Amino acid sequence: MVLHLDELEKQFRYDLHVHSKEVSPCGRMTIDEVGDEYKKKGYDGIWLTNHFHREFMEETEGMNWTERVDFFLEPYRRASEWDKGLFVGLGAEIRFYDDPNDYLLYGLTEEMLYREGEDWLSFGLREFFRRYAHRLIIVQAHPNRQDSSSPADYRFIHGYEAINSSPRHENRNGKTQELLCICPWLIPTAGSDSHRPEDVGRSGILTDCRLTGNQVLTKILKEKRYRLIPFQEDRQPEGKEQK
Ligand SMILES: [Zn+2]
Ligand SMILES: [Zn+2]
Repeated sequence: MVLHLDELEKQFRYDLHVHSKEVSPCGRMTIDEVGDEYKKKGYDGIWLTNHFHREFMEETEGMNWTERVDFFLEPYRRASEWDKGLFVGLGAEIRFYDDPNDYLLYGLTEEMLYREGEDWLSFGLREFFRRYAHRLIIVQAHPNRQDSSSPADYRFIHGYEAINSSPRHENRNGKTQELLCICPWLIPTAGSDSHRPEDVGRSGILTDCRLTGNQVLTKILKEKRYRLIPFQEDRQPEGKEQK
């Protein structure tokens, strides 16, 4: 490995929770728009964590599994050809059929999705963790988001998303951070949960080294060699409706 002296003191900036509208219909930006916005915000890369849940199966009804994976990977593949100087990693945000919570997957490969992904939604967290704990990093997304999530059993995840900066939800990150304090072996992550331009680049992680693939991401997460980009959650006025 060649060490560039000018990179020794640089901090690299990555967002670990990003959607694009080709796969996540709740998203309002194409992958190219996402890339341009992150570039403008000075990020070095993003992990694309599009939704993989019941609605994805409904959206792709009539396709066989290979076609469904092709569809899921299309924006990632498109981004892999960019010449923007912005790295894009493959991830997913999975929601099992029997569980309303969302889980971010890191370390995911195209091959794993094609070969094994077809049954994942019916596994449930416990079975999924039993099978994949050694191959993936499984992080519960926004565990304390009001009216949508509640913290999963810490024995079946690797970490909790300590900071989720989506502006349209009450994510109650403070509660998650308290939980992480009493389970200090868990991996804390941070991400913007970007769906729209105003969401982009409000959080993420800072690293001392450039992340060029899944292996380096999962290694620095396991070794906890990164910092979270601080984010101050807005206080919601009492009784304010959330969308
Ligand atoms: Zn969404
Ligand atoms: Zn998300």
